[in-house]
Amino acid sequence: MTGPLQIVLGTISVLFLIVAVVFAYRAVRAMVRIIRTGQPDSTRFGPVGPRLKTMLVESLAHTRMLKWSAIGAAHWFVFVGFYGLFLTLVEAFFEVFDPAFHLPLIGAWSVWNLFVDVIGTGTVLGIVYLIARRQRDHPRRQGRTSRFAGSNFGRAYFVEAVVLVVGLCILGIRAAKIASGLDSAPTWSHPVSSALATVFPDNPDLVSIIAFVKIVVSLAWVIVLSRILNMGVAWHRFSAFFNIYFKREGTSGAPALGPLLPMTSGGKPIDFEDPGEDDVFGRGKIEDFTWKGMLDFVTCTECGRCQSQCPAWNTGKPLSPKMVILDLRDHMFAKAPYLLGEQTASDTAPDYDVLKPSDEQVWASGYARIEGTNDAQAHRPLVGTLEEGGVIDPDVLWSCTSCGACVEQCPVDIEHVDHIMDMRRYQVLIESNFPSEAGVMLRNLENRGNPWGMGGNVREDWMKELDFEVRRADGPLPYEVEYLFWVGCAGAIDDRAKKVTKAVAELLHMADVEFAVLGNGETCSGDPARRLGNEFVFQMLAQENVETLNGVFEGRVPGTRKIVTTCPHCFNSLGREYPQLGGEYEVVHHTQLLNQLVEEGRLTPVTPIDRKVTYHDPCFLGRHNKVYTPPREILGSVEGLSTQEMHRCKDRGFCCGAGGARMWMEEKIGKRINMERTEEALDLDPDVISTACPFCITMLSDALTSKKQNGEAGEHVEVLDVSQILLRSLTPVGVAAPGAESGADVGTKADDVAGLDSANTEHGRQ
Ligand code: SF4
Ligand code: SF4
Repeated sequence: MTGPLQIVLGTISVLFLIVAVVFAYRAVRAMVRIIRTGQPDSTRFGPVGPRLKTMLVESLAHTRMLKWSAIGAAHWFVFVGFYGLFLTLVEAFFEVFDPAFHLPLIGAWSVWNLFVDVIGTGTVLGIVYLIARRQRDHPRRQGRTSRFAGSNFGRAYFVEAVVLVVGLCILGIRAAKIASGLDSAPTWSHPVSSALATVFPDNPDLVSIIAFVKIVVSLAWVIVLSRILNMGVAWHRFSAFFNIYFKREGTSGAPALGPLLPMTSGGKPIDFEDPGEDDVFGRGKIEDFTWKGMLDFVTCTECGRCQSQCPAWNTGKPLSPKMVILDLRDHMFAKAPYLLGEQTASDTAPDYDVLKPSDEQVWASGYARIEGTNDAQAHRPLVGTLEEGGVIDPDVLWSCTSCGACVEQCPVDIEHVDHIMDMRRYQVLIESNFPSEAGVMLRNLENRGNPWGMGGNVREDWMKELDFEVRRADGPLPYEVEYLFWVGCAGAIDDRAKKVTKAVAELLHMADVEFAVLGNGETCSGDPARRLGNEFVFQMLAQENVETLNGVFEGRVPGTRKIVTTCPHCFNSLGREYPQLGGEYEVVHHTQLLNQLVEEGRLTPVTPIDRKVTYHDPCFLGRHNKVYTPPREILGSVEGLSTQEMHRCKDRGFCCGAGGARMWMEEKIGKRINMERTEEALDLDPDVISTACPFCITMLSDALTSKKQNGEAGEHVEVLDVSQILLRSLTPVGVAAPGAESGADVGTKADDVAGLDSANTEHGRQ
């Protein structure tokens, strides 16, 4: 069957293969060399078993991709087609020479034939669906809200075209073989190819020609991506496995959320009491990132899932987590000759003009200000304004609320929050360059131990309104005390949060839970300082607290060092960051403990509350620590409450705007995040917007007040902590419990069964 046509096409194919292999080898070598210029990080290799398992589950089962189910399913077929049908490419090299060729051993096996037919068809249908979705979600239709805004379309189209053509060739080769009588496998083992064969001529040359097209298109793809190292839409097919394997949470396989990592320099944690002279604080240059950070950059597929969930991007800020990663990636490659020592930067920065943002350029991209590999690229600051030619604009860096939505959504486990926080650390600790308003908060933390700068003994004021004595912990806790109640700065100082503190204390007292507080001995957990980037202040506060807590829990064995807190930020710091400083405690959020008390029958909601409520997930409780159910179960235990979910909820919840120390900065760009979230809640026409975080309460309450002033929200609507609602349902009618009294008097009027005829409500029975 081998004629002149086969010899010509076959020879070209082999020559093309040799060229492609050389290109691919050089590209992979260059890629590995560049990534290896990153700082060391020895924490990413083990444990091997759990890491391998995570990598296999996430890739083979597409567990993270399937968060977007239809797209995930389509991508799964394309993914399985790419690897599972690799042997069809090998087979094609022989089919070019001999159209009757079948793979040895499996070529005539029905199971293999069925697999090829099903996955080949799935690949074609999958890529057609993905092409259609990219067009449907194109920025020309959706503008800035498109998740693809800022992604490179030319490269994506190229990859999509290659997959479509290769998929069609796989089916086409088989159909041509069947039509030419070169395949004797039963029809059921290749149903799609058999159907296609009815329109194919009886011509063996066609098999060689289609196989040749498949080879040329496949190898052209290899050569193109070998020449374009920042083509993440193609490179992720290889790098994603490694990126998932080396992800931060190697044991659990969870996304890189919750605690921030300790600051490292040269791969070693920095000793803040005696830092080394050469220690680099944070990331001030692209080469300060670790090799894993660089692997993150090259793995970004430009899918834009992170961008679509980012509260900053969705409210008109210049921050897109996708663009941050792409800017860092493109800068890394542009600076690569300098990183590899192939070029040497001049001693002083050259004069350079920055390219002004234009219509052709994504305005949120700082990289595009200076393009190409040149001396200016080597000298430009990593974080800087347009005039400075910064790769990342300060407005981008400081817009982040550290909500974690980007990390939660990323299908290839990129660790955006850690990178953003590391860049902040450099800006704060080395450049002293951060929003001035946040400086007041830092000074207050250093001088007064709380972000408000409140002096004196105000941390115990909330106790005065309780009709029982709250035990203060001074020295080791007595045996009978089960929990230390960590009140937190907001819970002790902010008027709205103090009501929550009182409600929780009241509930614990009702349930006979023995607890104590540190009172005036408590200081800030350090979370706002750490999220701002001031690791020094965090370390100072955290060490002080660990010392205090270790004293309180002296003599207690693990399992009995229990802390309950109402603040998700303290919950995260005490429970998941203090172990970095030797503080090991069992920290629960108040919604977890209260839910447990309800389940145990120690708290029994008795008073029905006939109200509509929607629950807002605090990011540091939900996404960062996966506590989604207890607050909802508490609400579910209250008779009469009708709960509705906002469309952005649970792991896709939308930030209130206060995280990442944004609580202490002015929000000057775009729409206010708290307004966006409150409008979303008000769309459900609720009586109560509930939440479980003092900062969320402040942000949502402020926005609700503004809405009420504009007549856009009913006067009866209120923002309440879940504990306040629970307390109202426990409080006998006519008794006003401390902490439950804010807003409308739902469930507290003497003759009003849980507000059934409360004058202020729109939704109660009349
Ligand atoms: S953490 Fe939140 S605000 Fe920051 S980049 Fe990610 S999604 Fe955006
Ligand atoms: S979700 Fe991940 S892969 Fe997708 S654009 Fe964002 S960083 Fe890149």
